[in-house]
Amino acid sequence: MRIVVLPGDGIGPEIAAAASSVLRAASGRYQLNIELEEHAVGHASLQQFGATVRPGLLEIVRSAGGLILGPTATADFKDESSGEVNPSKYFRKSLDLFANLRPSRTYPGLRNRFGVFDLVVVRENTEGFYADRNMEKGNSELLVTPDVVISLRRITRHCCERIAHAACRLAMNRRKHLTIVHKANVLKIGDGMFLEVCRETAGAYPLLAVDDLLVDAMMAHVVRQPDRFDVIVATNMFGDILSDLTAELSGSLGLGGSLNVGANFAMAQAAHGSAPDIAGRDIANPISLILSTALLLAWHGERCGDARYETAARAIENAVAAAMQSGRATRDVGGGLGTAATAQAIVEILQSDKAIAAAAR
Ligand code: NAD
Repeated sequence: MRIVVLPGDGIGPEIAAAASSVLRAASGRYQLNIELEEHAVGHASLQQFGATVRPGLLEIVRSAGGLILGPTATADFKDESSGEVNPSKYFRKSLDLFANLRPSRTYPGLRNRFGVFDLVVVRENTEGFYADRNMEKGNSELLVTPDVVISLRRITRHCCERIAHAACRLAMNRRKHLTIVHKANVLKIGDGMFLEVCRETAGAYPLLAVDDLLVDAMMAHVVRQPDRFDVIVATNMFGDILSDLTAELSGSLGLGGSLNVGANFAMAQAAHGSAPDIAGRDIANPISLILSTALLLAWHGERCGDARYETAARAIENAVAAAMQSGRATRDVGGGLGTAATAQAIVEILQSDKAIAAAAR
């Protein structure tokens, strides 16, 4: 399996190096024969090639078995016509990675003020309030006069159906509970359709318990009682905001792993941004990208029917939990290590027989 690694900006290179070292260790331990191929993206690419995503990179990525994208400084990239494309948008849209799976769970030994929970936010990834995804050409934010802006949101039945199916399928493999998050009381037509399509789709999964909540109320419910949720499906922007919250509730935004999934390709990507406030200081938590990488392995294993990848993914998750439980992690999760040392601790646990036994269970 050849995996392309694009480290990105800010803390991206630090956490991408950490995730790569864990992946190499898992590959060695489980004979996965994974080959990592690194390319520049974001500011590094802009400097070198005059574009945040250089010509030809998409073809290189397409021909690989998966992609690991580090966070990029999207706020800096303003003018697409000058090569300043948002790499995250670019790969999600070009590869039609419509489902963004963002799991959050608490861990033994890690302070949690909101009780034990384990949930997944399933976020639509290709339209919605993200104006840069909605049009064939250009952007759906319009400057009408210097003082008037119109931002258009696109919602399509097709995208609602496919994200609803992705969420239902995931819920069927978990605790069989789906919560639809929306704002259909105000966005009556767009979120009205999203809600209706999600309910209709869930009807084909009779064993699922289905409920729905308004997105504003959801912010209170998920803080008050996160353990009442299993799989949560939401449109693009609501899912993005909600999943940063659930990652932080689990202990830190630095635990927010995610996988962007399409019909034939998947991209591992942390839920958070490039964190310029802590970049270059060896203090960023690499676990978000390490867990994202585990999700990528599990996806690949399921797709090609090779159990070794799923075993390796579980072993990485177990090693991450063990590292945090023993305090061998970054400060945001109560540990005393830097980014690189956290990755090294996870590698050492991964290589020990205890983690292997736990993964095999
Ligand atoms: P951010 O998500 O980068 O950071 C928010 C806060 O969380 C900061 O205090 C940061 O230090 C902390 N944090 C984030 N990741 C962490 C980690 N792994 N370990 C420990 N702490 C961590 O949000 P921001 O600062 O608003 O955005 C910075 C840049 O990232 C902006 O240019 C933004 O547009 C971009 N961004 C990119 C992506 C992406 O590439 N997918 C996503 C969101 C934001």
